[in-house]
Order: sequence, then C-alpha cells, then structure tokens
Amino acid sequence: MEKTCCWLVLLCGALLWLPACTTVPQTGRSALHLVPSDQLASMSASQFGQLKQETPISRDPAYNAMVRRVGDRIAYAAGPDMPNAQWEFVVFDDDEQINAFAMSGGKVAVYTGIFKVAKTDADLAIVIGHEVAHVAAGHGNERMTQQLLAAGGALALQFGTSGMDSDQRALLMAAYGAGASVGVMLPYSRYHECEADEIGLIYAAKAGYDPRVAIPFWERMAALSGGAPPEFLSTHPASSTRIGKLNELMPKAMQVYKNR
Ligand SMILES: [Zn+2]
Repeated sequence: MEKTCCWLVLLCGALLWLPACTTVPQTGRSALHLVPSDQLASMSASQFGQLKQETPISRDPAYNAMVRRVGDRIAYAAGPDMPNAQWEFVVFDDDEQINAFAMSGGKVAVYTGIFKVAKTDADLAIVIGHEVAHVAAGHGNERMTQQLLAAGGALALQFGTSGMDSDQRALLMAAYGAGASVGVMLPYSRYHECEADEIGLIYAAKAGYDPRVAIPFWERMAALSGGAPPEFLSTHPASSTRIGKLNELMPKAMQVYKNR
C-alpha cells in the first residue's frame, strides 16, 4: 500500500511537470528538464549573489575588460539559443584557481588563475564559450532532474525493502547512493562536458574567435594541471579524448568561423 502511494506521488509529480522534454540547441539532443527554468534561474541568481559576497572580486582592469569584451560577444552569439538569459560575467580574485564556472540563467565566473592559460581573447573565448554552452544546453536543469529521479528511486527502494532488517537496508541504500552518484551522475557529467566543448566551440567561432586555438589551449590546461583539468576536475574527459573530439568537431566550427 505504502509502495503504491509512493509511486502515485511520483507519477503525479512527473505529470504536473510535463511537458519536460526539451531539445538542446546546436546538438539537437533530447533532454529531460523537470525543474521550471525560471525557478532554477532565480535560485542560481541568489546563490551567485551569495558567492560574490563571499569571494574576493578582482579589480584588475585588464582582466575585467577582457572578460567583459569576450563575454559580451559570446553571449551575443548564444543569444538566439537563450533569449531569456540574464548574463553576468564576474572575475574572482584567486590566482590558484585555474577555473571557471557557470550557473543556470546566465551567471558566469572566471578565476584570475585562468589567465595563466588563457593568454588571448580567443583563448578566453574557449573557456567562456564552454561555460555559456553549459547554460544554453540546460545542463544544470538536467543534472538536477537526474538527482530528483535518483531521489525518487531511493524512496521507492526504501518502501520496497521494508521486510529487510535495518542493517541490510542501510547497506542497500548506501550502495544505491554510491551507484547513483558514480554510475549515473559521473558519466553523464562527462557527456555534458563533451557537449559543452562542442557547443562552446561553435559559439566562439560564431563570435569571431578562431576555434583552432582550442586544441593548444586545452593541451596547456592539461599540462598545467597534471593531466586533470580543474572545473575542469574529475568530471572532465581525459585530455587525449577531449583533443580527439575537438579535432573531429573542427571542420564544422571552421565553417561557422568562415561563414559568420
Ligand atoms: Zn564544463
């Protein structure tokens, strides 16, 4: 009885959220987004506001101008894919972080450490293109959707194992949790990274930056971080895989670059 109720609640929840299937721009992949995007954007905006309070913001005029310049052009190139974005680009003052991140709705942060690798506007366009691509592709929503579904699975497992003793159940739940995060989440995140590379390369090309710089850029990134690029950390694809994929994508990106 409990089990049936649980599934009914999940089913009703899923139906309320329909239609939740969307198409990723540029790649045309179908994706499931169960979280309303305006809700996700406002959650991200408040989280980003908090981060800005807690993290020192760079006052370096050259870095700030470079990020604004490149950010504006990439956001313009991505504009048709994300007409409702509220783009905001911030430079965080931390030379140790060779990193950048993006949040749903259009919040992008670059750490000053990235300038050890991104020497030119075109280099930075590869980073910002990748970050803007995560936003435009709705990767945040898709990840949260997976977590919601995994939580639903855990709940169902709990109700379905009520005959087991508490130790057995705890063990099963722990195994499920580990499986859900490593088995389901991690490979999917890697997929998101590849997709962000693909879409980001198109955005950089569309914005007028030579996409070919992506290859030496990611090679330098891999060399500097000992083969494990930092956002860029464990969820990112191995650098050789990444370079191989980028080489495959290059003819399409070059066509966009030449025909813009
Ligand atoms: Zn990424």
